[in-house]
Amino acid sequence: MHYTGNIIRPPSEANSIILQVTTGCSHNKCTFCGAYKEQPFTIKDYGIVKQDLEFASNHCKNQKRLFLADGDVLILPLKKLITLLSDIKRTLPWVNKVSLYGSAKAIRSKSLTDLQELKALGLDRIYMGLESGCDEVLQMVKKNETSTSMIESGQRVRTAGLFLSVTVLLGLGGIQLSKQHAFQTATTLNRMQPNQIAVLTLMILENTPLAQNITDGSFSLVSPIDILKELYHLLENLNGLRCQFHANHASSYLPLAGRLPKDQTPLLEQISKAIKGSIETVPEYRRAL
Ligand code: SF4
Repeated sequence: MHYTGNIIRPPSEANSIILQVTTGCSHNKCTFCGAYKEQPFTIKDYGIVKQDLEFASNHCKNQKRLFLADGDVLILPLKKLITLLSDIKRTLPWVNKVSLYGSAKAIRSKSLTDLQELKALGLDRIYMGLESGCDEVLQMVKKNETSTSMIESGQRVRTAGLFLSVTVLLGLGGIQLSKQHAFQTATTLNRMQPNQIAVLTLMILENTPLAQNITDGSFSLVSPIDILKELYHLLENLNGLRCQFHANHASSYLPLAGRLPKDQTPLLEQISKAIKGSIETVPEYRRAL
C-alpha cells in the first residue's frame, strides 16, 4: 500500500484496511491539532489508489472493514466519492463497512440525498470532530464552526441513516471556559444524537499554536482533577441519548466505556470516586495520543 505521512485512524478502525485517498486535512487550522501540520492537503493520484485497491484484493481478504484516510476524505467532490465507493464494492466485495473522517464543513458540502447515495454504495460511518459545543471555545481554537453548524452537520448524517461517531476534547476551554465547555458540549451532543461519543483529553503538542498560547500565558491548562470534573459535568448533562460512550482513549486520566443511558449512573459513580481519590487515575507519563 502507498502511504504518505503519518496515517491517523480512529482506534475502532484498528483492524480495517486503510486506504489513503487524500493526505492531510482540508482545514488544518485548529490551534490544538498537530496531526497534519507538516502535511498539506492533497488528493492522491487515483491511479495509485487503484493500485492499492488491487493490492488489498490480493492480500486483505480477511478484513471486512475499510477506512478511508486521511483527515477529511468527505470533502472530495461527490463524483469522486461515488467512483471510489463503486470501485471498492467491485474490487473488495467482502468489505461490508466503509468509514471516513468527515469535518462538519465536508458533511454540509453534501446534501441529504448525496449522503444517502454514498450510504447505498457502502459508506457506513462518519467520524466527526466536534471537540466542543461551546462557541467561545470553537472560536478560540479556530475550528471555524459554531455549535449550530455542528448540530446541522451531525443531524444530516443521522437523517441519512449513517453511523455518526463524534469526538470531544476535554480541557479544550482551558481553566477559564471549563464549565461552559462541558455543559454546552453535552447540550450540543443531545441535539446531534450521535451513535457514539469518543471523549479524548487535551495533550499539548509542541508544533501547535496552542503550545505557544501556553508559553505566552493566554491559555491555562485544566488540572487533572478538574478534567475529571469536566468529564462528570459532561456525562451528567447528556440526556435522551442511546449511544456508545467511550472515554478510554490513551489520553484519558480515567479510562471508561459504556452505553447510554444504561451505564450513565455507574460511570458517574466511577468518576466521582476518582475525584475523591478512591480510584487510581492514569499518571501523566502514561498518557499518549
Ligand atoms: S482537528 Fe481535525 S479539522 Fe482541525 S486541523 Fe486537525 S484534522 Fe483538521
